[in-house]
Amino acid sequence: MTRTEKERFWSHVVKGPEADDCWFWTGAISDDGYGRFSVRRDGRPQAVRPQRYAYELVTGVPLPSSTLLLHSCDIPICVHADADVAVSHVGPGTHRENMLDRVQRGRYRNRQGLRLGDLPRQIRVQRSLDLRTVIIEHGWRPELISAALLGVELTHPRLF
Ligand SMILES: [Zn+2]
Repeated sequence: MTRTEKERFWSHVVKGPEADDCWFWTGAISDDGYGRFSVRRDGRPQAVRPQRYAYELVTGVPLPSSTLLLHSCDIPICVHADADVAVSHVGPGTHRENMLDRVQRGRYRNRQGLRLGDLPRQIRVQRSLDLRTVIIEHGWRPELISAALLGVELTHPRLF
């Protein structure tokens, strides 16, 4: 029996144990450090952004291609979408002020307080790849996730 597209999508997502944790995409990662999910539309292969896919799936609200989707946690491979803006880690640009406000109040920063989206592209890509590797190889290990986000050498013996 073939898996549905949605099943295939969620098979690439690892959710943290706490309600406000990130949900990390562990599938393909593009050369900008954000995820990539391959689907077929009208018989043709097409790449979509996992965070946009998750947002539309979870909220049922279609996103026009012109609408930016922003991360309040600022981790490019996070796909934690929720219809409740206070819970969701991603939201359309129209909610930007709300999201920035939340970030500034520190309610919703990622635990390291990092702004990965602002890093130079090559570094951002490497952080996303390292984070994915950690999740795939070790599951949800907060200390390894922190190390990957901070860019600490993952083979450092202190971490194991
Ligand atoms: Zn997140």
